[in-house]
Amino acid sequence: MKAAVFYKPGPKISIEEISLEKPKKGEVLVKLAAAGVCHSDYSFMIGHYSPTKAPFVMGHEGAGIISEVGEDVITTKPGDKVIFSMDSMCGKCTNCSTGNPTMCLTYGRTFTMPDGTARFKKGNQDIYHMVGAFSEYTVVPEDQVIIVPNNTPLDKASTISCAVVTGLGAVVNRAKVQIGETAAVFGCGGVGLNVIQGCSIAGATQIIAIDTVESKLEMALTMGATHIINPTKNDPLQSIMDITSDGVDYAFEVVGSTSLIELAFSTIKRGGKTVIVGVPATNSKITIDASTLLFDRSIMGSLHGNANPRVDFLWMLDLYNTGKLKIDELITGYRPLNELNEAFDDLISGKSIRTILTFE
Ligand SMILES: [Zn+2]
Ligand SMILES: [Zn+2]
Repeated sequence: MKAAVFYKPGPKISIEEISLEKPKKGEVLVKLAAAGVCHSDYSFMIGHYSPTKAPFVMGHEGAGIISEVGEDVITTKPGDKVIFSMDSMCGKCTNCSTGNPTMCLTYGRTFTMPDGTARFKKGNQDIYHMVGAFSEYTVVPEDQVIIVPNNTPLDKASTISCAVVTGLGAVVNRAKVQIGETAAVFGCGGVGLNVIQGCSIAGATQIIAIDTVESKLEMALTMGATHIINPTKNDPLQSIMDITSDGVDYAFEVVGSTSLIELAFSTIKRGGKTVIVGVPATNSKITIDASTLLFDRSIMGSLHGNANPRVDFLWMLDLYNTGKLKIDELITGYRPLNELNEAFDDLISGKSIRTILTFE
């Protein structure tokens, strides 16, 4: 079967024929229906940050249909429609038990199956994966699939597994934005737009979107942004102070840029929070004026929306089904798996927000 395989950073990803072993104990085989092309996939490709294991099958946002289950699988069966969770969660460790399964201690995010082995092979070579969404089929632990109702449109639902949960989760689970508060959102791609609509759903009254691409700022307005700033035209710090007078309650950095994290931190008011949603480069450093932390300011990371996928994915789907969460608008195009490199081109040129890869 066909899959997109990362070997080392470079200008293109190779789409090639590889093989996949059958699901082992506690694992499921999933036939992909849809996979979203995320900026994080591109960041691996260009070497912005390094995978734990390579080569690996790319793609971490997706949905599909269970086609086979391994021994002792009890929560799902062939034919079930599922959304992938980026994180496997044992359900038993301290972090799973305290409601933080994205921090699961047993599996972590390792690019291997929980037993440390790989299921994809090219000849005798092991090919690792997180979710392996850029593949016609993938095998994941049972706890990495979230079953959704049978009438769920999987192309739309696939975005919940990264763009929606990472953005919305950062707002409601991590930052805990309250009615009447204010937010600045640096970066209006697929995840940033979901931070914006999360802030809107949470009742924030001023939501300031910052991006250098005009079409993304226009999209931000449709997602609930109340103000937009293009840093190529206006100074973002000054503009935010003009809008809010003393800074925002929350600054979300959704790019992974150290200079943008420093800028975001400078825009929060006393008691404010800076939430790092973007993925900074491996070993990158930030510099902030530590004395300003004294006024109850904080800076925090947010991995995969600090989600409890078995619960959160379903209420996010309900928000979509009841018209309160915009997903259709995020999807700017569909391409077959073969056109992954073209999908990356569209992403980087600003032409697309989310391209959904389709499978035969
Ligand atoms: Zn992603
Ligand atoms: Zn765990």
